This record gives sequence, structure tokens and C-alpha cells, in this order.
Amino acid sequence: MTTLPLPPGSTLGILGGGQLGRMLSQAASRLGFDVVILDPEENSPAGRVSRGQIVAAYADPVALTVFGQECDVVTFEFENVPAASVERLAEAGALVAPGPTALAVAQDRVDEKTFLNAVGATTVDFAVVDTVEDLIAGLERLGLPALLKTRRDGYDGKGQVWIKSADDAASAFAKLGGRPAILEARAAFTRELSVIAARGRDGQIAVYPLGENSHAGGVLRTTLAPAAVDARTSERAHEIAEAILDGLDYVGVLGVELFDLGEGQLLVNEIAPRVHNTGHWTQDGCVCDQFEQHIRAVAGWPLGPTTAHARVEMANLLGDEVDQWRDLAGKPDARLHLYGKAEARPGRKMAHVNRIMPL
Ligand code: AMP
Repeated sequence: MTTLPLPPGSTLGILGGGQLGRMLSQAASRLGFDVVILDPEENSPAGRVSRGQIVAAYADPVALTVFGQECDVVTFEFENVPAASVERLAEAGALVAPGPTALAVAQDRVDEKTFLNAVGATTVDFAVVDTVEDLIAGLERLGLPALLKTRRDGYDGKGQVWIKSADDAASAFAKLGGRPAILEARAAFTRELSVIAARGRDGQIAVYPLGENSHAGGVLRTTLAPAAVDARTSERAHEIAEAILDGLDYVGVLGVELFDLGEGQLLVNEIAPRVHNTGHWTQDGCVCDQFEQHIRAVAGWPLGPTTAHARVEMANLLGDEVDQWRDLAGKPDARLHLYGKAEARPGRKMAHVNRIMPL
């Protein structure tokens, strides 16, 4: 039986060995935990800063059992871990947080939007699309242009296509491989915001100031935080985050991507049941960053403070942009976070830099 709060010296498992796992592992080790990573790829960024790594597929039953026995608490750094794997870990004796419900809801865009609307976190109108006929009916109801997305396995703008004319319905559906999809009405937003929030095992909630995000080609480029928002917008974002966290009986850090329609009106684009790229600014803008916060929550510790002590512009360094490290290393206001990835493939998230400014 795992006792909570989890004492230092306990072992924390992370499913996924990418940069989020690496920064979680670093935060966990600072709090005195040992960390073990499970990731199919040898020498993962997270594995290299942890006590060990089990190299196996996320659905490998034997590896999951060993991992579950070795770890007191298991968490994940990405949401496409099979739900069955999480159940197996729980059977092997590990406490898993966030729980399987949060994972399942975030894995399916239709379930996600249905849940969000049910807890009062409004989204764009949408239609469930299993056939071209569904798509045509959806386009008639939602209007043009509209965005067709695969229900599952989409990230960073992948698995989605804009439809500008009803004549394009069949080709758009085919482009997504005829897979189960969701059609979304276009959100007429003025900007994209996000809110990072955490819920502890006792139901305590902590919400960070909002970030304002810019994307290119579906990939996050920058986050500026705390975003310049009026009180109404900030209060609404807090309300949304709280409704989601309570609605999922959530434990850990969660990212909520928002469309700002102006005048305090926000729509939720999607949620990520994990630490989030738009929360990286907290590493250099807050006393307790999102990574430590997540570890605190899953380990049953009290949550840390979320107030900002600096304004931060976070910029992702993609592909060979990571070569800028030499210049950036010489800038007094720039804090570099390099992920230790050997191969700088185009578009790959290699590092980020937090530029620190006065509040
Ligand atoms: P997603 O993969 O759902 O996060 O979408 C990637 C990006 O596409 C978002 O950050 C938005 O810029 C844009 N986007 C997604 N959904 C919509 C929508 N319904 N209306 C307008 N823009 C959208």
C-alpha cells in the first residue's frame, strides 16, 4: 500500500520519456524522489536524467507489471497511453494519477467536448462524423468554413483539415483516412490563451496566471505570460479550469487551451491531462513551476504557490533553431531549457527559451 503524502525516497514512474517527462523527472528528483521511465525508445530524454528506464511498448503487459511493482505512483507525460495500460498498472499496485477517466476523456475529441459542455466549459459547436453523409449534414448545420479533425490521436495540428466548400467534403474525409472524426465550427477568436491548473489529492486547486499563445502550422511557437487579460476573462478561465478539474476528480496538472472571443467570453479548444508546453514559462516566472506542481499533486503533497514573480516570453526552439543556444547562452535575460535530443529533425521540439522581463 502506498502511503500519502509520498515520502522522499519513494519511486515515481513516468509513462513517456520525452521532454515533458524529463522536466517532470528533474522536478521529482529535486523533491527527493527516484524516477523510473517507461518508453519504447532507448536513451530517451527523460530516461537519461532518471534512475532508470524500462524500454518497452506502452501496452507491453510484462513491462507494465514490472513497472507498476517498482513504482509507488505512476503518472504520464502524454495522453495517448492506452487506457488498458493504466488499468494494468493499478492492478500491479501503483497509484496512477491522473486517473483513467481523465485520460479517456482527453483521448477522444467528441467525448472531450461532450464532457466540457456538460460541466459548463463551453466549446465550439460540433458534429460527430463517421461517414461522408454525416460530414455533409454537419457542414449544413455548422456552416463554412469548418474544421474536420480525427477523433483520436491528433496533436500539434496533425490529423485536421479545413473545409471551405461542401464540394470538398469527400476529399477531406478521405484525407483523414476515413477515420471517425469530429467537425468543428470555426471559432472566431481574437487570440489563443491557455490556463494551467492543478488539483491535489485533497481537492485543493491552484491556477496559474493565463498565457497568450501563438502558433504556426499548428505548433506552439511562443507563450507570453502572465497574459494581459481583464479580470472578467481571468475569472472565467479560473471557473472553467475548476469545473474541469472537479468534473474529472482530477489529480495533477492540466492544460486548458482557450479561444478568447473578447468581452470575457472563452471557448475551450482542448484539454491536456498533463503538464503543457504553454506552461513552460512557469519554470522562470513562478516559485513553484508546473512540473513541481504536478509532482506535488500526484505525490499527495500540498500544492505550491502559483503567483508570477516575472513576466516571461517562452519560445520553442524547433529543429535546427536549437543551434541558437550559443547566442542565447550569452543573454542575461534568457534561460535555456535544452531537452538533450540528439537529432534535430525539422519541426521537432528541441528546447525552449524563457525570456524574463519585469512584471
Ligand atoms: P488543436 O490540434 O485542436 O489544438 O488545433 C490546433 C490549432 O488549430 C489551434 O491552436 C487553433 O489555432 C486552430 N483551431 C483548432 N480548432 C479550431 C476551431 N474550431 N476554430 C478555429 N481554429 C481552430
